Amino acid sequence: MKLIQNYVNGEYVSGTSAHRIDLFDPAIGRPYGQLIDSSIKDVNDAINSSKIAFPLWSSMKLNNRAKYLNAIADEIESRANEFSEIESMDTGKPISLANSLDIPRAISNFRFFAEYAKKFEYISNLNDEISKNEISRNPLGVVCCISPWNLPLYLFTWKIAPALITGNTVIAKPSEITPYTAYLLGEVCTKVGLPPGVLNIIQGRGSTTGDFIVKNEFIKAISFTGGSETGKTIYKNASNTFKKLSLEMGGKNPAIIFQDCDYNDTLDSITRSSFLNQGQICLCSSRLLIEESIYDRFKKDFCDRVSNLKIGDPMELDTQFGAISSEEHFTKINNYIKLAKDEGANILTGGIVERLNGRCADGWFIRPTVLEGLSNSSRLNQEEIFGPVVTLQSFNSESNAIKMANDTVYGLSATIWTKDNKKGKKISRKIDAGVIWVNCWLVRNLNTPFGGMKQSGLGREGGNDAIQFFTEQKNICLSTR
Ligand code: NAP
Repeated sequence: MKLIQNYVNGEYVSGTSAHRIDLFDPAIGRPYGQLIDSSIKDVNDAINSSKIAFPLWSSMKLNNRAKYLNAIADEIESRANEFSEIESMDTGKPISLANSLDIPRAISNFRFFAEYAKKFEYISNLNDEISKNEISRNPLGVVCCISPWNLPLYLFTWKIAPALITGNTVIAKPSEITPYTAYLLGEVCTKVGLPPGVLNIIQGRGSTTGDFIVKNEFIKAISFTGGSETGKTIYKNASNTFKKLSLEMGGKNPAIIFQDCDYNDTLDSITRSSFLNQGQICLCSSRLLIEESIYDRFKKDFCDRVSNLKIGDPMELDTQFGAISSEEHFTKINNYIKLAKDEGANILTGGIVERLNGRCADGWFIRPTVLEGLSNSSRLNQEEIFGPVVTLQSFNSESNAIKMANDTVYGLSATIWTKDNKKGKKISRKIDAGVIWVNCWLVRNLNTPFGGMKQSGLGREGGNDAIQFFTEQKNICLSTR
């Protein structure tokens, strides 16, 4: 059984806590290892190590920090197959997805920020007849990055890369459910000679280990991705020490499908946007709003496509739809399907547990599920399920579609499907979401701001926003009188 330890001060350590958390391979429903559940002492030791590392790292030339980030990217790339296999095993996602999305994106996160940060203007001057002002952007100190289980290394590195390149030292906590690739990142850091303490990776439960980090007075900022309820808790717990916060949280993303859409392309794209990673991407479409005139036709063709998705062993290359990442989440999704039935929903396809043969016979698989017949105010249309369950509703006017799309507490993303780009833009401007895609989904230029409105987010990630988040301004004023 694998033991996932902390990576502190450049070494793997088991910490002081005797408590261990079982780690599962969701495709087979059995444990593959254990995680150390870090104590407050383990957290404090890691923070001390990051405090000691800060002066050296923050005063290093940016180009040299960039060399470390590029070396980390190169090292992950040289082990990409191993990282993909482990990511797939830990999460239950198809290996093809880990291969094409998770690991390449983790690599490009480091490369992107290594280059982007060189172009950023850290010092500017503002002079007038009474003063000369030098305005600089400086690293914060020791910062914390907390990530969820759905895109483990992808989201972990999306936070760590900008935090490091700007000269901060980092305490990073992955999810207790999928910690393996974050653990491997420690090996990579050692291999490239990253100075000890610059990146400390702390394992454990969010409600204990995560909480110790969030409340620690030496942590200057928290970059968090996870659920909105956890975000609220972190917001409260960080307030005593006035930390900077970036909170990327949940969504209930609408897809607005007009009768003038590119029909077949939209069907393919919506199948992907609804069920990629078993629907466990914060940006997945979960409420499909379809123009009345094409509702019946779209419903039939969409359900045909969905029921043809190949569910299977995540390690097989042709698997399109894998396992749900944890037993707890599997139970939660099944409870939502039961609730949908109790609320009178019509299950069009899926709605049941999938039993595979062989190696995956005890895995946590749920068939991709499409349902209709619920109002927008129903729990299924309001609460984030974060799994392979989408609802269909029809609309009869643009204003009706916009009203339904905006009628949730979330505002992360939305998609709009019409061949009329002018209409797509006009409607986008009226949708309360931080990221809106017209005739596409998950297309990402890493320079663009990423994040949600309402209960989906506070702050933005990506190029400029990430650099600004991980630095703070100082103005030095000389009187010229
Ligand atoms: P979660 O339960 O909120 O956990 C996220 C992270 O926070 C985990 O590392 C968790 O540790 C930690 N945590 C939990 N309680 C904490 C506390 N009190 N203090 C500090 N850290 C704490 O979310 P999840 O279930 O892992 O992920 C699913 C959610 O993430 C969904 O809502 C999804 O929409 C959202 N998400 C959002 C985005 C985005 O960019 N907006 C991207 C991906 C996912 P443990 O795992 O050990 O509990």
